[in-house]
Amino acid sequence: MDEKQLEHFEEKLIEWKNTLLREAGVTITENLSEEISRQGDFGDLANKETDQNFLLRIRDRERKLIQKIDICLQKIKDGTYGLCEGCGEEINPKRLEARPVAGLCIACKTEQEKHER
Ligand SMILES: [Zn+2]
Repeated sequence: MDEKQLEHFEEKLIEWKNTLLREAGVTITENLSEEISRQGDFGDLANKETDQNFLLRIRDRERKLIQKIDICLQKIKDGTYGLCEGCGEEINPKRLEARPVAGLCIACKTEQEKHER
């Protein structure tokens, strides 16, 4: 991957992280249970789980994603970004465009999913 591409992905990752942090801030400071009852779409979820669990799950998911983004940003610095963690081959840039935190190439990902099933 050339420097221009790396810069592009770095910007993308930083922007994504900032968005997540902003959204996480909203989740923490605003009363989410009120938000859920106002927006009908979340009604089902609110019924299935306690509000507290719902809130924790969102924050956990965001936190994990932010961690992944940080790892990718470190990889960009180390010069290993875009390399598959499974086989060491370059991951298709189109795949990274769709999912910048992808750690595996499509072949390795498919293989992994086979084992998970
Ligand atoms: Zn691979």
